Amino acid sequence: MRTIYFDNNATTKVAEQVLEEMKPLFCELYGNPSSMHTFGGQIGRRIRQAREQVAGLLGCEPSELIFTSGGTESDNAAINGTLAAAPNRRKIITTRVEHPAVLSVCRELENQGYEVVELSVDRQGRLDLTELDEQIDDDTALVTIMYANNETGVMFPIEEIAELVTDKGAVFHTDAVQVIGKMPLSLSESNIDLLSLSGHKLHGPKGVGVLYIRKGTRLSPYMIGGHQEAGRRAGTENVPGIVGLGKACELAAENIKAENNKVKRLRDKLEKAILKKCPDCQLNGDPKNRLPNTSNISFEYIEGEAILLMLDKYGICASSGSACTSGSLEPSHVLRAMGVPFTAAHGSIRFSLSRYNSEEEVDYTIEKLPPIINQLRKLSPFVAK
Ligand code: PLP
Repeated sequence: MRTIYFDNNATTKVAEQVLEEMKPLFCELYGNPSSMHTFGGQIGRRIRQAREQVAGLLGCEPSELIFTSGGTESDNAAINGTLAAAPNRRKIITTRVEHPAVLSVCRELENQGYEVVELSVDRQGRLDLTELDEQIDDDTALVTIMYANNETGVMFPIEEIAELVTDKGAVFHTDAVQVIGKMPLSLSESNIDLLSLSGHKLHGPKGVGVLYIRKGTRLSPYMIGGHQEAGRRAGTENVPGIVGLGKACELAAENIKAENNKVKRLRDKLEKAILKKCPDCQLNGDPKNRLPNTSNISFEYIEGEAILLMLDKYGICASSGSACTSGSLEPSHVLRAMGVPFTAAHGSIRFSLSRYNSEEEVDYTIEKLPPIINQLRKLSPFVAK
């Protein structure tokens, strides 16, 4: 059966060029980059090259980057490392719509006695910057706010937020896992202190990520052991992963504009047709400030899981809520924070596209989805008579 993959915010296909770049690092160039011999030394060069490729995409210095095991580790390292480096400050500000890689860490810190403020969002998933401004005080060690939401694609005005936070003397971290490779950015011109990214969201491999640490930012190491990453992150490097991530960043830097246009056109076509052909459905999230690949739609009175199962019969892969929360019967914490009514939050589906999707796949989905919605509505006990 064919697979139509509209779940690219969960993970992406590894690009062929990325895989080709990684292959020699398993059985030919398998040395340890920390070794003294020439065989190991050449691996170190591959890591340096990857660091430059990532820096090229982010517009920063290679020395400002450390490789990690992914977005979750980068987020954990940024938050815990900042607090350890600023023991006299006890307040953290975040939002109610963060990924669990940030939200769970903040809630754990709250249990340990830190003051944690979770900013709310409006019905379109937007933040009130006045509320943020009022909350930052002399006790605030860190503000951590995501660049774009993984469930709705809503983008926060991160450059403005970074300026606001750093002007007041707190450290600013952003989880940019969903943005890197989808939107261009230049860190050398920004006030962002710390930024997380993950390889598998931009057609790179899983299990590798990056934490950007702006030169001069105080951060205690989170992983302690060997001297890798200039003492900032211990552990023998995931060399194939790092090399693959470097290549994925190089490809993204070359193609970002053309791909964005293509992906946005397909996403808009899919979204418009669904909203037109299916009654009682609504778009979730600010339509103006959104990632070009993401569409989150609520189908009133039916279960998102039921829609997913029926789409799956046609090989169409989408998601209800984030991959991490699916499997639970609770509606998404992001949609709840936005005030999406219970009957709509339960029936929400996220379509997230990539450069590998085609117009034909979009047309196929537009043909298959409306009858599924009709069929499920007939069975629903909630449908308004
Ligand atoms: N942050 C966001 C916004 C994400 O979407 C994800 C993954 O879904 C993560 C963090 C976690 O990244 P990783 O899977 O690399 O640990």
